[in-house]
Amino acid sequence: MKINFLDLKTQYESIKPEIDAAILQVINTSSFVLGPSVAKFEQDFSQYCQCEETIAVNSGTSALFLALKAMGIGAGDEVVTAANTFIATAAAIIYTGATPILVDVDPLTRNIDIDKIESAITSMTKVIIPVHLYGYMADMERINAIAVKHNLIVLEDACQAHGAKFNGKPAGSYGLAGAFSFYPGKNLGAYGEGGAVVTSDKGLAKEMRKLRDHGSEKKYFHDVIGYNARMEGIQGAVLGVKLKYLDKWNIERNRVAYRYRTRLTGLPINLPQELENYYQVYHLFVIEIEKREELQKFLSDNGVPTLIHYPIPIHQQKGYLSAGFISANLPITDRLAKTILSLPIYPEMTDNQADYVSEKIREFFGK
Ligand SMILES: *Cc1c(COP(=O)(O)O)cnc(C)c1O
Repeated sequence: MKINFLDLKTQYESIKPEIDAAILQVINTSSFVLGPSVAKFEQDFSQYCQCEETIAVNSGTSALFLALKAMGIGAGDEVVTAANTFIATAAAIIYTGATPILVDVDPLTRNIDIDKIESAITSMTKVIIPVHLYGYMADMERINAIAVKHNLIVLEDACQAHGAKFNGKPAGSYGLAGAFSFYPGKNLGAYGEGGAVVTSDKGLAKEMRKLRDHGSEKKYFHDVIGYNARMEGIQGAVLGVKLKYLDKWNIERNRVAYRYRTRLTGLPINLPQELENYYQVYHLFVIEIEKREELQKFLSDNGVPTLIHYPIPIHQQKGYLSAGFISANLPITDRLAKTILSLPIYPEMTDNQADYVSEKIREFFGK
């Protein structure tokens, strides 16, 4: 059997008439940048995330960056975040002139280790960015409590957590703002680049709207030096259609995850943790295994592609060594980089496909 790591084509085919009509509407009205499709998506996504405002932008990286800029973050400031994350979290912090302070992750949740946050806070710390990695939310109640105690802002990196919930509340609704990516492979993916910030702070929203459009509220009047981070009309149209299916797709991801979970028990591998107060959306299904390279090759030889998220931690990336992470003591992050493996998971994956992957893993262990 040949398995895909992701299958965006099958998903498109399942909603083709709606998507095609929405894209044609944008073309027929020539509303290529922002415009009604983006405005409508902003409204719908705000409601979905239980926030007052959505500012649609051109990537998740822009979403993080504009949120930090609107919060007034810049040179001399420190931003505390998780060491085990996609590079963009750290990049966005560095673009503002601030310094990312990487905190090791919890071995069970693989998210920022909340017990280690306070020792990373200094007089220069302004923001905490928890990352809801792999679709599993960080404990936002504990993080918000630490932020209140130290008078810090919380910005959620929800780029892998569209629709995830903690204690019944969605990702993005806990912090002062939440940043999302709509990169095609994310749980809610555009047909190109895309991102958004959600917030219930009207002032912050107004500032971010200005920053995404060259610092202007009124055409050709530039109150501040802004950027071009606008969302394209076609992406707004595609996202507007796909948002209606997101909950259903997240349920399908949970179906596949459950399939893996029940079939991969009793093997010398760690499975993603499941806790009662968390609704996770399995952007990725990440296992930990000592003999990772061998398993990866065995699966690949049997038609099962896997990936590693992420093989080299930020503090060891060549381009980031000068950022001063060299002496960073991040043992859990370092260990995960050597043992994690992402199995294929996507809403359209069939039970049979998931069972095939599970069988091959059992076969690898001679079970
Ligand atoms: C995808 C992602 C981003 C960046 O989003 P882009 O749209 O690719 O710029 C940031 N943080 C995390 C955790 C991500 O997974």
